[in-house]
Amino acid sequence: MATTIPGDNLILSQIVEGNPVASIVIDAQHRVTHWNRACAVLTGVPAAEMIGRTEQWRAFYPQPRPIMADLIVSDALEGTVDEFYHGKFRRSALIDGAFEAEDFFPACGEGGRWLYFTAAPLRNASGELIGAIETLQDVTERHRAEDALRESEERYRLLSVTDPLTGLFNRRRLHQCLPGEIGRCARHGRPLSLLVIDCDHFKKINDSRGHLEGDLVLQTLARLISLSLRASDLAFRYGGEEFVVLLPEVGQEAAVLLAERLRLSIAGRNAPGDQAVCTVSIGVAEYRGEESENALINRADAACYVAKAQGRNRVVLAT
Ligand code: GH3
Ligand code: MG
Ligand code: MG
Repeated sequence: MATTIPGDNLILSQIVEGNPVASIVIDAQHRVTHWNRACAVLTGVPAAEMIGRTEQWRAFYPQPRPIMADLIVSDALEGTVDEFYHGKFRRSALIDGAFEAEDFFPACGEGGRWLYFTAAPLRNASGELIGAIETLQDVTERHRAEDALRESEERYRLLSVTDPLTGLFNRRRLHQCLPGEIGRCARHGRPLSLLVIDCDHFKKINDSRGHLEGDLVLQTLARLISLSLRASDLAFRYGGEEFVVLLPEVGQEAAVLLAERLRLSIAGRNAPGDQAVCTVSIGVAEYRGEESENALINRADAACYVAKAQGRNRVVLAT
């Protein structure tokens, strides 16, 4: 449906109307001259409500404001376009004086729509601006697919760094985190401590109670470790029955106290009547500066080994 604009004719109207891309044409007074069928379907607003008026905003926004075609007709500078499309627009590489943008329109359709839209100036034979044409494409499905892909990538990324048995981070995640944590503490002159926690005589637990029961023990241990930590601490299943805990901002004295509390909370579960878990030996090391990640882990591991040699179920601070 169309009224006349200078230079308009029946053919032009049919071209716009028959175009499967939603299209709007406005004249130099911002009046809608064309609102094609595709646009009526996309916006849910019939042409009859728009033609001859200047209320095109109603199809897209809750309050009056220029649509992109209006900005073209106002010969808006980029600053003005940016004011309305906040860095989401760019100049068309295809058409002189045209802009294109992609934005989410919460008021459009059910649950809002993502629209890709372009607006180009219309000029008469002497080059005067006599209106603008805007085209709109619904790209909501593409955005939904991209969101779904991002979410599934994030899920897989998380799975790839999570230990399936305990739900703790795995060893790969430790090696992703450690350089950053070391760097942060070194930069701010803050301490960082690391615990290596190893179950005592775990082989015996498997042998006497079975592998499945052994798995349950590991799950219980992981839960007890998580419960003993602050939000900024990080726990990892480092190997079969070995865990690592990273304690940013914690010096060795506080780390030993925390390890001791954890050891007791685990050993305490072995009291008669409690659900038996196992005991753990814990090696504690504070980052020294200038040492590699592996050197830090190795020192905590060596301290854990000393704890084993001294009789297990104890905490030893690395030298
Ligand atoms: P120590 O006190 O010296 O650490 O003795 P240990 O028996 O704990 O040490 P060792 O390294 O000899 O044995 C560890 C055992 O942990 C061997 C392995 O079968 C068991 N293990 C490793 N991963 C799993 C697991 O996912 N589930 C179960 N149930 N057992 C595991
Ligand atoms: Mg071990
Ligand atoms: Mg062990």
